[in-house]
Amino acid sequence: MTDKLREFIDNIQLIDQHGHPGFAGYFENFPPENRLIIAIDPYRHPEETSNGFPYLREAHYEAYEKIYGFSRQDINDPGKKDDLVREYDQQRNNLKHLIDKAMDAAGVETLIANSFLHDDLKNKPRIKFIPSVDPLLFPFDNTYLTSRGPLSSSVLAAFTHMLKIIKVKYGFSMKGFTEYLEFVDKVLDNFVEKGAVGFKFFIAYIRSTYCEKVEELEGQLLFERARKGETSAYIRLQDLLVWHIMRKSIDYNLPVQWHFALMDACIEYLDCLNLAEMIRDPIVSKAKIVILHGGYPRYDHAELMALAGGLMPNNIYLDFSGRMVFQNHPRILATTLRKWLEKPALWDKIMYGSDVLWGERYIYVGSKVGRDAVYIALASMIADDIIDENTAMVIARKLLRDNAQKLYKL
Ligand SMILES: [Zn+2]
Repeated sequence: MTDKLREFIDNIQLIDQHGHPGFAGYFENFPPENRLIIAIDPYRHPEETSNGFPYLREAHYEAYEKIYGFSRQDINDPGKKDDLVREYDQQRNNLKHLIDKAMDAAGVETLIANSFLHDDLKNKPRIKFIPSVDPLLFPFDNTYLTSRGPLSSSVLAAFTHMLKIIKVKYGFSMKGFTEYLEFVDKVLDNFVEKGAVGFKFFIAYIRSTYCEKVEELEGQLLFERARKGETSAYIRLQDLLVWHIMRKSIDYNLPVQWHFALMDACIEYLDCLNLAEMIRDPIVSKAKIVILHGGYPRYDHAELMALAGGLMPNNIYLDFSGRMVFQNHPRILATTLRKWLEKPALWDKIMYGSDVLWGERYIYVGSKVGRDAVYIALASMIADDIIDENTAMVIARKLLRDNAQKLYKL
């Protein structure tokens, strides 16, 4: 009975609404001390990227074959390794061409590049962009934020460099709060003019995602104190700027993606319930928020956020991507998806993303895990007589395509 569903899912042209193609290449233009330490893309044997799952190992073999033309035999021949490393690097540096090959192999129609946009991806109709707006939050001395660990510090160093570039581009010199806010607005305007389909925050890498609602009237005083090095004022200023950008997103009618996923011991920073105040605020509750990676591994909190509002559906969306996908088995992911899908209110809110980070082959690997997991979750709901096959097909299309198309107005 479900063969029809399988075929239908395999033929859906995906919208991959969260990924970082050309991630490593983008940072190669930064001074070494300002590069993100996770922005690397070396050739790796499928065994190394399988996370212990034979399924993922096989998916990587397939991706190498279909995108890079590497045979299983060559991959497993130690004598060929140097050649493959060289060839891999060459293809990686020809991103304009490689991206099309990867997207075609994966059946991805549109990919929303996230946070940073590699030059080779500009003006490609199949690539959309969601810029990171985080650098705008950290205009002053950030030394107080540097003790969390090397990953966090490298994100901060990258933000610092990005803000420097933006300031030069806009000829901005630091005056007072009013001028700074005008600068922030100008940067956002420019992103939108250039076609951004949303904004992204990944402050969880360097500070808590809890932001107090601070009135803009306080801005001038906070700005002056923060400039002099007063940490508590600086944090409040960042909070104020986050709420400001959230309000701006409503004017632009663009969603804001928030990174929530476990990365170190600062677990309270990474909890999506930190945004709870925003969803009950009379104004900011109108902003559309995407909880990335379903708040890995706190899927129940993400679910709670998306269901909050009861009879009045709110504007919280759930992205399944990243470790939920590329380091996971589709049967495990299907269990998470099924739990979400048992609430019909979430059918219009769940969206697929590869979160491609360490090489374009992850676009393919993610698409395979994503399609398989959606199929397994829906087939199990059909088997349990919860939904029929036609309903399953509608839901599959929503998760893999329609919900993203609608939210990002593609
Ligand atoms: Zn991401």
